[in-house]
Amino acid sequence: MIRLAFVVVVCLVVLAACSRSEDPDSHIASEIAAELEHTKAIDNHAHPMRVVAGGEQDREFDALPADAVQQPAMPVPASPDNPMFARARRELFGSEAKAAAAKQRGDSYPVWILNHTNTEIMLANRVAMGRGLSNDRFKWVPFVDMFLFPLNNSAIKQKDPEHAAFMKNEENLLAGYLAAAQLKSPPLGLDDYLIFVTHTLEKFKSDGAVALKFELAYLRDLNVGDPKKEDVERIYTIYVQSAEPSAEEYKVLQDYLFRYIAHEAGRLGLAVHIHTSIGVGSYFRAANANPLALEPLFNDPTLRKTRFVMLHAAWPFTREAATLILKPNVYLDYSAFYYLTYPHPAARNLRFFLEMAPEKVLYGSDASPFSDNVGWEETAWAASKMGRQALGLAVTAMIEDGEINTERGKRLVHMVLRENARQLYGW
Ligand SMILES: [Zn+2]
Repeated sequence: MIRLAFVVVVCLVVLAACSRSEDPDSHIASEIAAELEHTKAIDNHAHPMRVVAGGEQDREFDALPADAVQQPAMPVPASPDNPMFARARRELFGSEAKAAAAKQRGDSYPVWILNHTNTEIMLANRVAMGRGLSNDRFKWVPFVDMFLFPLNNSAIKQKDPEHAAFMKNEENLLAGYLAAAQLKSPPLGLDDYLIFVTHTLEKFKSDGAVALKFELAYLRDLNVGDPKKEDVERIYTIYVQSAEPSAEEYKVLQDYLFRYIAHEAGRLGLAVHIHTSIGVGSYFRAANANPLALEPLFNDPTLRKTRFVMLHAAWPFTREAATLILKPNVYLDYSAFYYLTYPHPAARNLRFFLEMAPEKVLYGSDASPFSDNVGWEETAWAASKMGRQALGLAVTAMIEDGEINTERGKRLVHMVLRENARQLYGW
């Protein structure tokens, strides 16, 4: 009898252990965990690297040079020391050296990474695409900030070393696009400059772009005014060939150009991605990234054809962002959110979004090179795990609180990991 009781107890203990999911700390309902695992993601925001030849370097994964940042000033979980990144390296490469793994797979290496991070399509936020970033699995999101800065940028450069380096890069990018349009410098008239911008955006579109990216919060605030064209014309015409505009005058031109690009994006069927969260670098102004500043833009009836996506869950402005996704043309991705904080706190915030407008919430990895050891491959892998974990925790908590049933929970997982992106981009 005693032996039988012992066997029963052992069986119960084993059953209890088995009924939990793999990670005893995850608190994710098993049906939700299964849905997370078998749903291939559409990753709304990442910086994958192209395949390079020996000695070649890929500098096009971001428009702002990472080496300009002397002090990353990032939260603890976003440090390359996060054990998830070491785990990612083990899981992806085993005992093989990463460089050898890449070399062996050649041009198919980036797709191999997608296949090993449970990702079907990755939006590649890059200056340009390149080798190995095949257009069926990687969709291009070019940067557009440089179009906002055609005048003398000395005052912005003088702010601090990061602004100096960022702005120099924006100037180089603009010079490159002007040269591609057979222009040596910005045209003397505003209308001609707008034509150049439109042609370049149309070229982006025909080269496969699905969205445009503003990382404006790295350069200035997001209070985009709605100036009159004649004021803008006057400012442009004076300062395009002489002197330096005042900060107020320059802002008027930048605001106009931002709206112009947003409008063109709507016409061309390109979404507009906006960096709205803390940023890398010790001079970044968090207040600049508050997405509430974008509300007048989102409320502009002439821009309702443009679909805006706030990136990185707008951390730490998550509550503000949650209210903004109620607007018909405003979306949000939670790329990097679960390593700007950790998956558990990210899940608590993710829940706000799912309780507001679940059809507007998109998964993203922000996979990008962090350090010599932690590349876009490791961040993509870690994000695929932690991003799913945060989503699973949020959905499970909603089920446990009786807000939704398990079927609806599974549906939310599917929507956030891929269906919402398919709807947004029309795939
Ligand atoms: Zn990014």
